Amino acid sequence: MTSAEDKITAWFAAQSTADSARFPIGIGDDMAQVALSGGASVLITTDMLLDGVHFDLSQIGIEKAGRKAMAVSLSDCAAMATVPICAVVSVALPSDFGSAELKELHAGIVRGGEPFGCALVGGDITSWQNPLAISVAMLSRPGDTLPVRRDGARPGDVVCVTGSLGGSMHGRHLDFTPRVNEALAIAKAAGINAMIDLSDGLSTDLNRICRMSKVGALIEADKIPLSDDARKSKDPLASALNDGEDFELLFTVTGEDYDRLKSSPPHSTPITKIGTVTYLEARQIGETGPTAKSGAVQIRMADGKTRDLVARGYDHL
Ligand SMILES: [Mg+2]
Repeated sequence: MTSAEDKITAWFAAQSTADSARFPIGIGDDMAQVALSGGASVLITTDMLLDGVHFDLSQIGIEKAGRKAMAVSLSDCAAMATVPICAVVSVALPSDFGSAELKELHAGIVRGGEPFGCALVGGDITSWQNPLAISVAMLSRPGDTLPVRRDGARPGDVVCVTGSLGGSMHGRHLDFTPRVNEALAIAKAAGINAMIDLSDGLSTDLNRICRMSKVGALIEADKIPLSDDARKSKDPLASALNDGEDFELLFTVTGEDYDRLKSSPPHSTPITKIGTVTYLEARQIGETGPTAKSGAVQIRMADGKTRDLVARGYDHL
């Protein structure tokens, strides 16, 4: 199942006439890449956060909302294994916002970028009779590797996640650390074939990687690292698959690269193998590897039964 957001994104990508030599990565990845002279490039992303949708100012301070807005875009820089540079931030302020509230928002935005050297270099302020809206546009540059795309997963790859998943609505979605340093360290230590940040839930984001890479995947339910909040929920597995806003990394590497990451971890944040990338057509990988139905993204449950992993994560539209 493809979400409404993915369908409209695919339509936008199909309409694009942008020259792929000037824009090596275009619509449909976590960031777009803009080629500059001399082989250099920058990447760009934008995210809009709304009071009442992505945060709730009746429950949290304004500073936290500003910090989250930056962290969401920093997470996209992480998804490409790129180094954040700077951001411009546009805000639509509700009519009861005064200069004290605006300064609080500014402090959150600046503090969000600080640990990653991502400076606030401009923006725009307007006001309206509606709740707060924050729109961040962020630039990054490649690190020691090429930017990692969503479409490079290969059959036989190991599917990995960082950290633990599920239950972010209990507060973690406001306080998460974007996995920028982890992504750069993993990309340097191993060749990451495909990566995405888990913004909309493992079920939705794994389907995205597989669709764009034209592969299937088989993941193991009992291997998925559950967060403490997920464990407290009625259905911890469903929480880890579908809640969204984990802002962990989902990536695929070859078996050899996975062994390398396991034997000398490049970062203290845990990396967990949750499954394997499969061929589109039913076909054996190696002697004992998994098979998949045509195009299937599947999950093997604790009872050994395998079923389709339907994208049930967050759909923005
Ligand atoms: Mg993303």
